[in-house]
Amino acid sequence: QPLLELVDVGFSHERTRALGGVSLTVAPGEVVAVTGPSGCGKSTLVMLAAGVLRADEGQVRIAGQDVGSLDDAARARLRRRRVGLVLQYGQLVPDLPVLDNVALPLLLEGVRPATARARAAEWLTRVGADLTGEEWPGELSGGQAQQAAAARALVAGPSVLLADEPTASLDARAGSALLDVLLSSTLEVGGAVVVVSHDNVVAARADREVRLRGGRVAHSVQLS
Ligand code: ADP
Ligand code: ADP
Repeated sequence: QPLLELVDVGFSHERTRALGGVSLTVAPGEVVAVTGPSGCGKSTLVMLAAGVLRADEGQVRIAGQDVGSLDDAARARLRRRRVGLVLQYGQLVPDLPVLDNVALPLLLEGVRPATARARAAEWLTRVGADLTGEEWPGELSGGQAQQAAAARALVAGPSVLLADEPTASLDARAGSALLDVLLSSTLEVGGAVVVVSHDNVVAARADREVRLRGGRVAHSVQLS
């Protein structure tokens, strides 16, 4: 069973048509790179695939569940349990220390705080962040915020990892190390990865490249 399925999906941001007729199926173990010029709909695709946005047309299924058929609470639960999302600027909750930010998906699932924080600390180490977790998000560099956001995305062992330029604020070495952790940790638990990137390093590790243009799939190329 595919972990992620978009069937003929369309979406408009108010008056702007961002995507139309987009279909994409991602199987367990797959790494898909989404590329294309600025404004072609890459971020919108990620937000739809994550269940953050709801498609205007077509269907989005995450781990077999039709996102469009769920109410907001069920959609949020599906996201917490199955989806890891890393955005370009980290997007941490500003009034929680870094460790609680990373632990948040576990805390929301009712994991005991001590356990959740211990696991969060392990993930901060795994992603290569030189952080104690006691920092506040506002004190972090862009790169550190991305590392913390990656740790948060991985802490609950997501089936579908979605990442929008996840290494954009890091130097080449730290970015490549982070990408390694994002891919290997997700694949280890039988998951799949969809990553938006301009970076050749990402394309080099993807199984498939899906190129968007004007909100449509311009081509889809099997790379391995
Ligand atoms: P990309 O990630 O490829 O740059 P986006 O998905 O961000 O593309 O944007 C696709 C289109 O939707 C663009 O025309 C963009 O200007 C528009 N768009 C994106 N987000 C919004 C928004 N929140 N409100 C209005 N228009 C938006
Ligand atoms: P990307 O790096 O994906 O190209 P953008 O610079 O297009 O990102 O968008 C950054 C943020 O601005 C996103 O949250 C997007 O939804 C929002 N956005 C993009 N285009 C518009 C728009 N025309 N109107 C309002 N918000 C937009």
